[in-house]
Amino acid sequence: MARWCIAAAGLSGATAFTCIPLTPMRSTSCERIPSVEQCVGKSWVITDDCLRKCVQAQCKGATVACDDFYTEAKCVPKKNGDRVAGFVIKGSQSCTSPRNEVKWCDLPLASDCRARAMVHEMAHTCGWHEGDGHGVPGNFGVDECSF
Ligand SMILES: [Zn+2]
Repeated sequence: MARWCIAAAGLSGATAFTCIPLTPMRSTSCERIPSVEQCVGKSWVITDDCLRKCVQAQCKGATVACDDFYTEAKCVPKKNGDRVAGFVIKGSQSCTSPRNEVKWCDLPLASDCRARAMVHEMAHTCGWHEGDGHGVPGNFGVDECSF
């Protein structure tokens, strides 16, 4: 299994590596998604307990779908060139009753950006809406990371 290692140089000059396993998120034909650990790692900025716990559970358990016709249609760039990283079908989901699926556009985002965008989409599966705040990355739908 791939591992994600952080190098930390100690005072003695020795370098220690902290490695955690990279667990793949559950997905259908997605190639550019964060690991479960990266998704959970970017979720700690969420200030609402119920929402953050929901997002973390979703990082581990929700399905990221890349392969259906609806995803492909919504992932086409808009006339102004804007693209979405992913989207969630709106319904009655809440932080105690999340929707179990994210539609994902599989864009070639930088790894850090990809994880933030996934946390944003997972927040939608937990009933969060654009502008609701609570520390969710990309609060107004405009992600601060470059594509
Ligand atoms: Zn959004």
